[in-house]
Amino acid sequence: MEEKKEQHQEKEKTFQEFHDWRKPIDEQVKEDLKGYFQDRDYVVMAVPKEEPLRAWVVKATNTARTAQHIHNLSPMAAAVMGRAIVGAILLSSLIKHGSDQKIALKIEGDGPIGYVYVEVDGKGRVRGLVKNPDVPLFTKEVNGRTKLDIAKAVGNGTLTVIKDLGMGKPYVGVVPLVSGEIAEDIAYYLVQSEQIPSAVGIGVKLGENGQIKVAGGWMVQEMGGTSEKALQVIEEAVKKLPPVSDLLEQGKRPEDIALMLIPKELNPHLLGLKEIEYYCPCNEDMVKGLVAGLPEDEIEKIFNENEFMEITCHFCGKVYRYTRDEVEKIKKELSKEKEENSTDEGEKSKDQS
Ligand SMILES: [Zn+2]
Repeated sequence: MEEKKEQHQEKEKTFQEFHDWRKPIDEQVKEDLKGYFQDRDYVVMAVPKEEPLRAWVVKATNTARTAQHIHNLSPMAAAVMGRAIVGAILLSSLIKHGSDQKIALKIEGDGPIGYVYVEVDGKGRVRGLVKNPDVPLFTKEVNGRTKLDIAKAVGNGTLTVIKDLGMGKPYVGVVPLVSGEIAEDIAYYLVQSEQIPSAVGIGVKLGENGQIKVAGGWMVQEMGGTSEKALQVIEEAVKKLPPVSDLLEQGKRPEDIALMLIPKELNPHLLGLKEIEYYCPCNEDMVKGLVAGLPEDEIEKIFNENEFMEITCHFCGKVYRYTRDEVEKIKKELSKEKEENSTDEGEKSKDQS
């Protein structure tokens, strides 16, 4: 608990330093920044001045739209994927900001979507996939409003979080789905597996054309040692907060929502911002490794039936295409590299002995 408090003070100090050297930003720069971020996806992080609490608010509309486009998702599948994307971004608060560490969220149930899987790295790069992209629309009535029935598309099942901190074996945590609506499930995971009391809200809205209109979410976390009074203020603010999809639709920005979650009386500070985008790091080298690993009879079979070998990336839809000659060349290239490496190894062990 002490350590967390220190971390918080450290953050506070960094903010103070930032604040001290900061020159007043003139109105034009403010307007330019606003324009720059108008159509971009990003997360803001905010903390109260005194209390060990933090809030994350994310807008991920473009990222969710890109996912819908790449995977040709039905409106319902796009809504589930959109929520999972926002959830995974909120979970990326568990990895180091700006690093290559990765966090993956898999929601798997007995509903028609099968599963949805999303990865996010410390730099805000997101990619994902879904088992069944063509789920029909399910809706339900809540307080006289028609809402998407995400839980029906997901069904009963599990939520898995895989944290790859770049230190060997990834950490895997699994919890049962408590609602299937994703936000509540993520809050449950954070409390159960990470011991971080959290409140989470996620919202995705579809346009009349069935395309993602807005996608976003928020999270407030208690880092230990928060005063009763502050907790009450936050609880009240969370209760009063309108659905995040409504706020985004009205043009509210993540920083506006963060300041609604941490009201003025707690003296909120915006600590930082991270851009979010759909990005797949797949490349020729990775695919070549895959090609070289294929058994000869399988390669034979592919070329008996096709002129090209085509390998499609499941995350981004990019197609890698090779002729028979190219495949042979890749196999030779890589087996040569392998030989060279094993010679190196041999020499190394010789040196050691
Ligand atoms: Zn890819």
